[in-house]
Amino acid sequence: MKIKIFKIKAKSIFTQTKIPGAKWTINQYVGCQHSCLYCYAKFMCQWRPENYGKWGSWVEVKINAPELVKGKYVEGWVYMSSVSDPYQPIEKQLELTRRVLKNLDKRIKLSILTKSDLILRDIDILKKFKNLEVGLTINNFDGRLKKIFEPFSPTNQARIYALKVLKENGLKTYCFVSPIIPGLIDIRNIIRQTRDFTDFYWFETINLRLAGQEFIEIIKRKFPKSFEIIESQAKFNDFLKECCKIIDSEKINCQGFVYEADRGRNKRTKKG
Ligand code: SF4
Repeated sequence: MKIKIFKIKAKSIFTQTKIPGAKWTINQYVGCQHSCLYCYAKFMCQWRPENYGKWGSWVEVKINAPELVKGKYVEGWVYMSSVSDPYQPIEKQLELTRRVLKNLDKRIKLSILTKSDLILRDIDILKKFKNLEVGLTINNFDGRLKKIFEPFSPTNQARIYALKVLKENGLKTYCFVSPIIPGLIDIRNIIRQTRDFTDFYWFETINLRLAGQEFIEIIKRKFPKSFEIIESQAKFNDFLKECCKIIDSEKINCQGFVYEADRGRNKRTKKG
């Protein structure tokens, strides 16, 4: 897909957040070439000029991000990133994330989440952080499902491989199992493929409200059985119980389960 790049200078780079477990976010990019159909960050389009276009077709690059982090220390966990993937394809040539990591105070508590094995390029810098967690989103979408939901992100095999190599290099790893869509994701299988090199897990079910209308239409049309479960509060609750049973039976370190409670706001529980 042809991508529009907007290079901008930001005023600041650490933003306070309400994401549970984190105090700050850092987005050296806004916008994401991975262009996942369900992406919860596409609301960012509302605040961009019309010429930017659809989510996934543009990326804003904060060219001064490496300078902005220099010499700054913040208390509390910093989450990278909330409205972009720090290792989307353009990072390969720009090395913006790499330069941000180089300049970040290594005492900062940093949690990175990505869908890309490009993160392996930066292992040399990652190893210098005193408090670091590195997460890969794993959902095992493949073939037709991958084309529909995440057409431009690296394969799940590449992500699982990345988790393994990160762990082999002594880094703390986590697996973010998301978005869990009834009937389309096999949680047990993901756990079994990753447990040997994953320190802890987060789970998240799909949030229709944040995923948006286009996603809802596609789920309704192409996966009616999944939609029936997501749409019905009673069936969805049964599905959640089933997921928790699987997670409990696998005896993993589950840090939390994120789900849409009463079709309202997101809710996180500390245990699967
Ligand atoms: S990788 Fe993350 S930020 Fe990028 S489009 Fe997909 S869900 Fe959104």
